[in-house]
Amino acid sequence: MTGFGYSLTPSSRINLDDKDKEKWNKLIDLEPDVLKCMACGSCTASCTAGIFTKTSLRSAILYLQNGQEKQAMEYVKSCLLCGKCFMVCPRAINTRHLLLSISKIYTLK
Ligand code: SF4
Ligand code: SF4
Repeated sequence: MTGFGYSLTPSSRINLDDKDKEKWNKLIDLEPDVLKCMACGSCTASCTAGIFTKTSLRSAILYLQNGQEKQAMEYVKSCLLCGKCFMVCPRAINTRHLLLSISKIYTLK
């Protein structure tokens, strides 16, 4: 069957059972507040580096939850650790400390 003028896009399904959760569990041990994140996006909207780069803590947390470490690090690698996101987080998550822990766990072996 051809000639419809469109094709199916590849599936973006994520099988969480296939993902290694070791680092994510380590992050939860160090920063249990990460589980409080409700993905509101206030941190991203107020991010100092977000104007010039794709820095987004919200996106990084969502990717880390899905075990997509590589994609997550794209959203935090340009963080300036200014702490502005901490001031706006409605869940009072110490985002600056969380960002430090993320970089410690996900970049060191
Ligand atoms: S600490 Fe990082 S993520 Fe938070 S506002 Fe500053 S640059 Fe953005
Ligand atoms: S501001 Fe806080 S609750 Fe909202 S997405 Fe960022 S870390 Fe999560």
